[in-house]
Amino acid sequence: MSACVFCRIVAGEIPASVVHEDDDTIAFMDIGSVNPGHVLVATKRHAENLFRLDEASGAAVGRALVRVARAIEKAFAPEGLSQYQANGELAGQTVFHYHVHLVPRRRDDGMKIDWPARNPGRDSLEADAAAIRKALQQEAGGR
Ligand SMILES: [Zn+2]
Repeated sequence: MSACVFCRIVAGEIPASVVHEDDDTIAFMDIGSVNPGHVLVATKRHAENLFRLDEASGAAVGRALVRVARAIEKAFAPEGLSQYQANGELAGQTVFHYHVHLVPRRRDDGMKIDWPARNPGRDSLEADAAAIRKALQQEAGGR
């Protein structure tokens, strides 16, 4: 069994409310969410940071980010969206999958975010994940 949390999520060993998965990327809502609707989009394979990310994986992450962001908008109608990144050992990371956090925002959220803050809990995460999956399926079916 891998010691890496993200590898264990990819392998289905840790529940993480997965909303999107393809050959190169996985997107999931983790416990300790900053904000309801928060989704983490990550490479399935190890790439410590952009220095180590191959172009095909970078393109796959970009596609997944756009699709998941649009699904978040459709599911929750937030007023804005923030993206946060901290990748690699020198950014204090212990998981070496290149990743981006998508955080839906409301006007009254302010700029400061506690980390982690509002933890919506597993049931709420699953409901949010289902709403995003539904929006992704509608988008895919609409093309
Ligand atoms: Zn890993």
